[in-house]
Amino acid sequence: MEKQEENCKIDIEEEETDKEYYSCMRRVSRIMVTLIIGLLATWYYIFVVELCIFTVPSPALKATFLVIFHILFFLCVWSYLRVVITPPAVPPETFRLSESDKQLYLSEERPEVQEQILSRAAKNLPLYYNIDSETPIKYCRKCQFIKPDRCHHCTACDICILKVDHHCIFLNNCVGFSNYKFFLLFLLYVPLLLIFTSAVSLYCSILFWTDQLPNMDSKDSVIALFCMSTLFCMSTLFCIIFCYQYIYCHYSLVLMNQTLLEVGIHCEYNPYDLGYRKNWRQVFGNKKRYWFIPIFSSLGDGSSFPLGDATEDIEKNGTIDCQTPK
Ligand SMILES: [Zn+2]
Ligand SMILES: [Zn+2]
Repeated sequence: MEKQEENCKIDIEEEETDKEYYSCMRRVSRIMVTLIIGLLATWYYIFVVELCIFTVPSPALKATFLVIFHILFFLCVWSYLRVVITPPAVPPETFRLSESDKQLYLSEERPEVQEQILSRAAKNLPLYYNIDSETPIKYCRKCQFIKPDRCHHCTACDICILKVDHHCIFLNNCVGFSNYKFFLLFLLYVPLLLIFTSAVSLYCSILFWTDQLPNMDSKDSVIALFCMSTLFCMSTLFCIIFCYQYIYCHYSLVLMNQTLLEVGIHCEYNPYDLGYRKNWRQVFGNKKRYWFIPIFSSLGDGSSFPLGDATEDIEKNGTIDCQTPK
């Protein structure tokens, strides 16, 4: 009895430490979001005011640069804000365990009986587990949901999130079913904006070093040179990081219909792989005109997913053959 009380005390202490850690993490995340918005505002000021308005000599070029920059900047900020403010999608109420089943589950200590209770409750739910009899039903005690396919409990957000990809400290949010498309668009528009800014600042630098910038006194020259070199270096650096680290990784996962959490799971194939085109449409939708606009157009409801060829083998054989390449 004493030991039980002691264990309970340790559990409560651990939970308190976790709570403190995640509330600290959320505070840091909020600071990160503010810093990123500040960085975007600074970037806007340097490019529009210092570079385009005060440095570029040709009015036609000035107008062209400003139009292109504003389109890319607007799409970039719109995508970023949509990722940050879109609440993560949670499982629908049909996945919640009924009160009687919950009491039965909590009062039961034998894992095999608990599994039977969950299997019975999940019988009519659209779960991959119902085809793949080898995988146990997953239940979240905190949210009291039977977890839909590809759903995970995020300890930072403290909720179960549909098709969760990862929790991002720079977004102060989880990237999942509801905002995955916005995240991908943000990853696309940031490097485009960086490449464009980098090219314009390089062009202005060449004008500067070849003395083609008229009406510029020594003070203006120092400011312009500083702005151009800062923009060029930062843009190039961030662009390299973005392209290699994020774009390649996340867009190849979209084409494979996998989340970051699913990499390495599902043996050598994944049951949700429908082929490149259909996988792309799962996230970006069927209407091409919405693909590159930060408007929600993903297919489905996030709690069940169409299954690819792999499931046919499972239905035929009853088990997953991990050695069979897809
Ligand atoms: Zn949960
Ligand atoms: Zn989260």
